[in-house]
Amino acid sequence: MRTSRRACSSFVLAGHPVLRRVATPVRGVAARADLPRLDAALRSALGEHYGVAAPQLGTSARVFLLRAHADDGPWIAINPSIQRRSREMVAGWETCLSVPGYAASVERPAAVDVRYERLDGTAVERRLRGFEARVFQHELDHLDGILFTDKADPRSLVHESYLLGDGPDSEAVCASLRQLAPEYEEEEYEESAGEGPRGP
Ligand SMILES: [Zn+2]
Repeated sequence: MRTSRRACSSFVLAGHPVLRRVATPVRGVAARADLPRLDAALRSALGEHYGVAAPQLGTSARVFLLRAHADDGPWIAINPSIQRRSREMVAGWETCLSVPGYAASVERPAAVDVRYERLDGTAVERRLRGFEARVFQHELDHLDGILFTDKADPRSLVHESYLLGDGPDSEAVCASLRQLAPEYEEEEYEESAGEGPRGP
């Protein structure tokens, strides 16, 4: 997921077939030996954003990088999976480095029990909640060839300049968004959009 209002051409964009492929699990010595290079490429691409998956760099591997808060260091998830999903669903606004400029409301399980491997090969099992759970699910979808627009309420698709209050008639647009998606809060979007440098 992205924070920026600027499009980034270094990312593979919607329409490229690598974004629609089920990515390959990382297995075997050669694939594992390539992980430090991939980790470095993902970190450089992530910049100040919240998540980036290997297919967004054109690499069909089951690897992504994410962070839950702007100040947190990102962590890598290799061969990630979801073991359990909460019955409680929650809608929230999402954006994507591969779909620059647009946001939409996506309903997802509020909490997920996840499993993944670290760079050193150790397996981790954790429960994720809130925004971190949302980013994990968004990035995992990338490894299965799914974009957030596939799961979004299609009528909620909006240019993100409106959510940031920059678009023409922003106020009127946001008022109609609140009717469409009552959970919408402009402040919340701005908070999740973060501040500071808009890299990469
Ligand atoms: Zn994305």
